Amino acid sequence: MIVPRNRSVDRSAEDPPPPWWRPLHTMQGTSASMTCPKGHHSVLLDHVILPDGTVTGPPGQSGSVVCPHAGCTFHETVTLQDWEP
Ligand SMILES: [Zn+2]
Repeated sequence: MIVPRNRSVDRSAEDPPPPWWRPLHTMQGTSASMTCPKGHHSVLLDHVILPDGTVTGPPGQSGSVVCPHAGCTFHETVTLQDWEP
């Protein structure tokens, strides 16, 4: 699934329809937070994001994204559109 970027930086502005992602700045560098198509939030801190936006896992682990929301069945490989490392 290709996930478009949420460019709304004003927190009071309305978010676009899910799914979307936005940058998440951490001590280790830039990661991302995203929503599944149902709008549940998750963070990709335990994933590796390649320069082209492909979300993969740490070596030897699956790169697919599992929605952490109880009861949600979202579980897919994801590409972040307009990713800037
Ligand atoms: Zn979900």
